[in-house]
Amino acid sequence: MTDFTGKIGLVVGVANKRSIAWAIAQATAVRGARLALTYQGRFEENVQELSAGLATSPLVLPCDVASDDDITSAVARVEQELGGLDFVVHGAAFARKEELSEPFVNTTREGFRLAMDISAYSLIALARAASPLMEKRGGGSIMTLSYLGSERVFPNYNVMGVAKAALEANVRYLAADLGPKNIRVNAISAGPIKTISAMGISGFSSILNVYRERAPLRRNVDATEVGEAAAFLLSDAGRGISGEVLIVDAGFHVTGM
Ligand code: NAD
Repeated sequence: MTDFTGKIGLVVGVANKRSIAWAIAQATAVRGARLALTYQGRFEENVQELSAGLATSPLVLPCDVASDDDITSAVARVEQELGGLDFVVHGAAFARKEELSEPFVNTTREGFRLAMDISAYSLIALARAASPLMEKRGGGSIMTLSYLGSERVFPNYNVMGVAKAALEANVRYLAADLGPKNIRVNAISAGPIKTISAMGISGFSSILNVYRERAPLRRNVDATEVGEAAAFLLSDAGRGISGEVLIVDAGFHVTGM
């Protein structure tokens, strides 16, 4: 049921081999998906290098998710070269370093705008551009990546927590909007994983330690585990699920203390 033979996917948000989006790309490619991977400017070389490791070579395209033109051109290239889309993975997020270290009350208007635009709004823009390609193929599946900081306070997660709350609300509204076209929209809320984005959060390693101590499984999750859960959600095995935030965090979220 998690076979991706004949399926075409667009994966946004690969920066390097530690990126969660890369783990999802691998999990779907190994099950037969043909992929397009997008990169943000400075990561082109990394993404080109990683691409060489996939069984079927992916289409590699630039895309800054803060630009509607970039999103439109990337999706148009996918249509031209791959002929359509069955799934989309949105793994882009950004907040300025100072917003992730200073007291939350000091969040600037521009810092708030930027975090919201790149980490939350971009899902709507991507869904709008990609959904006509999915509709032509009878439906599809869109997923994004969130974090428990959307609901609970974690030190220094700050404006990114607010952006993730908006992102999860986007998932529900998009699911309601696109559901009649047989397009599902979901999120995976991942436990903390050492990636370049995560390392930008001041004191991130102490979050990893707390999860290790308190999560029911007494460990952290790795990107491969998120990749496997994503393959389930994106595939036909997840066909009854939409508007959902699936938490893949070794159970940490159920604990009180
Ligand atoms: P990462 O740094 O590997 O990925 C973040 C990606 O966002 C990068 O590829 C970067 O290029 C991209 N990005 C930022 N601004 C962009 C822009 N303007 N246009 C296009 N792309 C842009 O880190 P990651 O941890 O794999 O993050 C992927 C997603 O997972 C993010 O949404 C993150 O918030 C979420 N997440 C991460 C963790 C964690 O602990 N690592 C936990 C839960 C959720």
